[in-house]
Amino acid sequence: MQDQSPNSWEARADAHSFYGFTDLPSIHDRGTVVLTHGKGPYVYDVHGRQYLDGNSGLWNMVAGFDHPGLTKAAQDAYARFPGYHAFFGRMADQTVMLSEKLVEVSPFSDGKVFYTNSGSEANDTMVKMLWFLGISQDKPQRRKIITRGNAYHGVTAVSASMTAKPYNGLFGLPLDGFLHITCPHYWREGRDGETEAEFTQRLAQELEDLIATEGADTIAGFFAEPVQGAGGVIPPSEGYFQAIQPILKKHGIPLIADEVICGFGRTGEVWGCQAYDFMPDAIISSKCLTAGFFPMGAVILGPDLTAQLQEASEKVEEFPHGFTASGHPVGSAIALKAIDLILNDGLFEQCKSLIPIFEKGMAEVAANHANIGENRGKGLMGALEAVRDAETKTPFEGHLSVSESIANTCTDHGLICRPLGQSIVLCPPFIMTEAHMAEMFEKLDAALTQVFKEVG
Ligand SMILES: *Cc1c(COP(=O)(O)O)cnc(C)c1O
Repeated sequence: MQDQSPNSWEARADAHSFYGFTDLPSIHDRGTVVLTHGKGPYVYDVHGRQYLDGNSGLWNMVAGFDHPGLTKAAQDAYARFPGYHAFFGRMADQTVMLSEKLVEVSPFSDGKVFYTNSGSEANDTMVKMLWFLGISQDKPQRRKIITRGNAYHGVTAVSASMTAKPYNGLFGLPLDGFLHITCPHYWREGRDGETEAEFTQRLAQELEDLIATEGADTIAGFFAEPVQGAGGVIPPSEGYFQAIQPILKKHGIPLIADEVICGFGRTGEVWGCQAYDFMPDAIISSKCLTAGFFPMGAVILGPDLTAQLQEASEKVEEFPHGFTASGHPVGSAIALKAIDLILNDGLFEQCKSLIPIFEKGMAEVAANHANIGENRGKGLMGALEAVRDAETKTPFEGHLSVSESIANTCTDHGLICRPLGQSIVLCPPFIMTEAHMAEMFEKLDAALTQVFKEVG
């Protein structure tokens, strides 16, 4: 229980700050955790309490919370050129270099980059690009966007329409023309007696049928996270992308990989599309792009979409879209440093060396608790799904808020992890050591024991 006196940080936070994605009853009971700083993988609150952040902030702080190289890159960049836009034929040199770097490290042979301030805006921008292409190519009806159940693509009106979560109904979303197909989660969505290969085949057929019903020439694009992150760390079923990519290709529908979480190493490959061996037409990046040290998103277009968008823009003399802070010089300098740290300075190697330790820890914790129904994940991210009955996959009653209780109990013991549906999600920073991993799993295991005993 936190301090709730009127002048406490907790009360002041509650008085004048709106929370995003926060369970308000639990705030009223427990108060806000007001943080002051971080050190390595730890963050500290106003009372000096230390928390190991098993979620890398929000998937993004892969280099931890005080990386001197990133801080220095930011300080140098602020001293040199603290801000500029990328409109009207002007652009910071750091931004030019970042685009070169992003195309170089992308799976594409060539391409172009467009900058935003967030992942939501990058998805929104990509949709506008596809709509712009439709109109330019005399296919104004080509506007529909397909995503999958449990997808998370962001919160702007368009990206929220792509995010297939029930809460978007509270805003009257999705907008017309945003179509959602089945989430490729075999454990949850597979039918009795259906093999994983049959499941994948059924989902491919569903896509084929949807395209036939809607008309291929009305569909502007298909967006997919290689591993669905905020949906609960859901890797695709076996052979999923190999089954759907040919269908999209056959109908001329671009496949956009939303790599906001997967990008820059988390899956054990640089890009999630490489982990699942498919080639998208464009990549959406954010989160790890700056290791969380600056708000930035990017649309990385592959060669084909680059050529099309170039031609469409030449026709009307511009691509009339952009954000004031798109391609910010400081953000660009930080992203260049973050990419260098990850790819050339050992962070990606460290991530890869942690993956077997992480997988072992997840498996051990799952094996310790009969109420863990599924242990799933990819690379350095995973989820444990709590169930009343593992055999029948029966969830806990919603009013018990089991995953929230687990996360709150972890917080009480100095570990930050996140409830997502009935799952607990871990996606640690790449800078963790084996000792940090051991601390994380020990605390999680203790919290699971306590909560399952309470609700058992
Ligand atoms: C977080 C996330 C987004 C949205 O990014 P914001 O920066 O929060 O707008 C989009 N797509 C995926 C896959 C994400 O995980």
